[in-house]
Amino acid sequence: MTDILTKSVSKDGKFRVYIVNATETIQEAQKRHDTWRNSSAALGRTMIGSILVATSTLKEDEVLTTRVQGDGPVGAIVVDADAQGNTKGYITNPHISLKAREDGHIDVKAAVGTKGTLSITKDLHLKEPFTGQVPLVSGEIGMDFAYYMAKSEQIPSAIGVSVFVQPNEQVGAAGGFLVQTLPGATDKDISKIEDNLKIIPNLSTLLNEGLSNEDILNKVMNGVEMKVLQEMPIQFHCDCSKERFSKSLATLETKEIQAMIDEDHGAEAVCKFCGNKYQFSEDDLKQIIAQKG
Ligand SMILES: [Zn+2]
Repeated sequence: MTDILTKSVSKDGKFRVYIVNATETIQEAQKRHDTWRNSSAALGRTMIGSILVATSTLKEDEVLTTRVQGDGPVGAIVVDADAQGNTKGYITNPHISLKAREDGHIDVKAAVGTKGTLSITKDLHLKEPFTGQVPLVSGEIGMDFAYYMAKSEQIPSAIGVSVFVQPNEQVGAAGGFLVQTLPGATDKDISKIEDNLKIIPNLSTLLNEGLSNEDILNKVMNGVEMKVLQEMPIQFHCDCSKERFSKSLATLETKEIQAMIDEDHGAEAVCKFCGNKYQFSEDDLKQIIAQKG
């Protein structure tokens, strides 16, 4: 089983709707970073939001980076996502576990903070990357992404992102939805969807109950005829390699690399995004110096 994102449009052309089951993707992130519940939810929700924005606004080979910087204890959250459904991310403080809210849910707002920014930088292969930044409006992440879509992309959207963490800290289910209002949708059309969204449980609850993306789509868009356009896999994917780290080591001054040889007899590079470790022996480092010329 792999995670699937379902792209659909209403038959009347008034709404574009994406539903994503990201359970395995967020499970992988949780394992790689050993995140605790509030950090898992904050990082997971940011990854799901980034996947929804990337797959709905980027072209084939474009990539975006989301940065959520709030004043809460988790610190910064940084996530990459692309149009192909690949995502990776990290959080400054993975070990945040706070008291649950009164309704039993993870208090994401308390972990992320309510003062700060959400910014998305897109590498569109132009000279300058494009960055859109909005202040945090909620700290719960979903509404913050929706605010970004309305302000920076000028696409009115409803976004839901949801991560269910089991008592043993493993991620039980994770997913999200994006509903975009297209020109032609009337206030009456929109309020019908808003009414649907008011009564449906969290996505992770629905996924936990075994509902498929299409089942969820029919709940979100109850009363509206929908057409599925595409189903695409999404996954945690990091493109780091020893070669990439060699290149970044090569940007250091020769004396700094020499110090690694003399003092540490080698070096270890750790990828922030996925936690993979790369060992550089004294010979590796000498070669890097030699190639600097
Ligand atoms: Zn990596």
